[in-house]
Amino acid sequence: MNTDTLLHLDRQHLWHPFTQEATAPPAMLLASARGAYLYRDDGTALLDLISSWWVNLHGHAHPKIAQAIAAQALTLEQVIFAGFTHEPAVRLAARLIEQAPGELNRVFYSDDGSTAVEVALKMAIQYWHNRGQIRPRIAAMVGAYHGDTFGAMAVGQSSGFFAPFSTHHFAVESLPYPATWIDDEAVEAKEAAALRALDEYLQRQGEHTAALIIEPLVQGASGMRMCRPQFLQKLAARLKKNDIFLIFDEVMTGFGRTGSLFASERAQVAPDILCLSKGLTGGFLPLSVTLCTETLYDGFRGPSFDQALAHGHSYTANPLGCAAALASLELFEEEQSLQRVARMEQSHVDFVSHLATEIPIQHPRVMGSIVAMELPAKDAGYQAEIGKKIREAFLEHGLLLRPLGNCLYLMPPYAISDSDLERAYQIIEQVLTHHLRLIS
Ligand SMILES: *Cc1c(COP(=O)(O)O)cnc(C)c1O
Repeated sequence: MNTDTLLHLDRQHLWHPFTQEATAPPAMLLASARGAYLYRDDGTALLDLISSWWVNLHGHAHPKIAQAIAAQALTLEQVIFAGFTHEPAVRLAARLIEQAPGELNRVFYSDDGSTAVEVALKMAIQYWHNRGQIRPRIAAMVGAYHGDTFGAMAVGQSSGFFAPFSTHHFAVESLPYPATWIDDEAVEAKEAAALRALDEYLQRQGEHTAALIIEPLVQGASGMRMCRPQFLQKLAARLKKNDIFLIFDEVMTGFGRTGSLFASERAQVAPDILCLSKGLTGGFLPLSVTLCTETLYDGFRGPSFDQALAHGHSYTANPLGCAAALASLELFEEEQSLQRVARMEQSHVDFVSHLATEIPIQHPRVMGSIVAMELPAKDAGYQAEIGKKIREAFLEHGLLLRPLGNCLYLMPPYAISDSDLERAYQIIEQVLTHHLRLIS
């Protein structure tokens, strides 16, 4: 089909995610991708600086992952996972357990980040139910985002994305989150206030709380809001004392984004439950896992099915996804991905320090492969005009960036070359300088 026909049919029949279709520019047609580049049907290239919505790690169409999927597809493509098992699922689970923090020892497979979160919440709630304790409450953080299914929306209700469903959220306590940045003088005070609010909540509701869920070190969708390891360590100690499960949603932070394989490692905090997806398959296929401790798992074993976790998806532990994930984990060693992220972190720091001398950016911050800042804007928040405008300007310059409102961030795939990254920094500075002159 030619370009015009495809785009016409797209406008006729497609409904794109997180898009106001009445005002959004038409979707761009992509033909192929390689490394850090996406290619349009007319051959123009876009440098993917957001890892295609935070999923890609080692570059697009990486031959090693593509071949692993093809080989698996010709061997065992999919099978029911109740009563059956297979080598890719077993090997991947063992591999993840080996690298996971703390005492995580069990792997439950599902399909995407949202379902990994649903599974985590259900594990925590039913564990207490199975023990005859009523602990109906869940705690989360202000600004959290955990996905778009109903349970995930409930714990992410303070993000502001889900207002039409507010009558359908279950009760969640959204606790203050001490977001911080480079040279933030108020960080200690913010952390102390957040911990006081947590203490106060625990005093009131600790006994009735099953779990607290948090995106460790970086809140993604609400604008790459970062916190310090110290805060997570103190939060974890308080939960432990109150017998409340700590759920780490590492759907975005997992697989090297924050500089270590998992943010848990960089923060030196081990959760009771860990959710992973996005980068799990290197960005090739939808797959997710929820890891938990043996203690939690034991709470579901018993003579009756009533105690079992009555949860499963048609494609649970899809062999193609597991094969892709195994290949992706091997690439971490073969391509020294974490060393690459460490170098990227240093160049990000240099970039924002320089940019801050040229442009009135606010709250510059860096964690591993992620750099973020707020741009001066009349209207802040996710719908800020500036975000939409500069997104278009960046596309015209061959960069795929998608500001979250007035928060501009980069989260490049690890396959990006040093020279492409430097070129991107320069273009970003030019576009911002030009744009800010226009609005001032
Ligand atoms: C993206 C994201 C999710 C949801 O994952 P999906 O695969 O889009 O369902 C959950 N939690 C976090 C932290 C995320 O960034």
